[in-house]
Amino acid sequence: MQTGYLGLGSNQGDRQAHLQAAVDGLASISALRATTVSPVYQTEAHTLEPEETQPAFLNAVVEVEVDCSPERLLDAAQALEDQAGRTRSSERWAPRPLDVDLLSVGTVTCHIERLTLPHPRLAERRFVLQPWADIAPEAWIPAPFSASVQALLDGCADAAALERRGPLLAISASD
Ligand code: ATP
Ligand code: MG
Ligand code: MG
Repeated sequence: MQTGYLGLGSNQGDRQAHLQAAVDGLASISALRATTVSPVYQTEAHTLEPEETQPAFLNAVVEVEVDCSPERLLDAAQALEDQAGRTRSSERWAPRPLDVDLLSVGTVTCHIERLTLPHPRLAERRFVLQPWADIAPEAWIPAPFSASVQALLDGCADAAALERRGPLLAISASD
């Protein structure tokens, strides 16, 4: 059993409902248990081109107890994205009803084509580090970061404004 952290994001459709559906969906996966959810934050979308605008994101982080391989967890994350109606475009950072990223899984480091752990861009994103620090400031992120979530947040240069939003996400009981 390992502790993992998932980063959730939505900037299309009913964003809050997509985040809640993702948390609900985790409860139906037998090898997983969601233990804690962060508050929800709204952030401006990061875009590839400065002149490109996109609807703002709602973001949150979920702590999970994981009893399966990280690849199986990625399969589960992508299944949740599919259920939210996400279409896979080749365009990076396109608007999406749901993004579920694996931030870290225990002390696993992994670099294969479909999965890099810890998530390579987590340290540059306040919308990841702030909600993560709200629920697990002391969580240790393995190499190449080798730092706690709080330490990365303290050193994060991301100046994008973050606005805390209600309501909180609810964890439903697992089967
Ligand atoms: P970013 O990774 O910068 O947040 P993104 O979430 O928009 O970008 P996606 O389109 O969701 O990127 O995913 C692109 C691919 O990234 C996926 O097909 C997946 O296989 C791969 N991937 C690699 N590492 C991870 C990870 N830690 N979590 C989720 N997906 C990952
Ligand atoms: Mg992402
Ligand atoms: Mg993703």
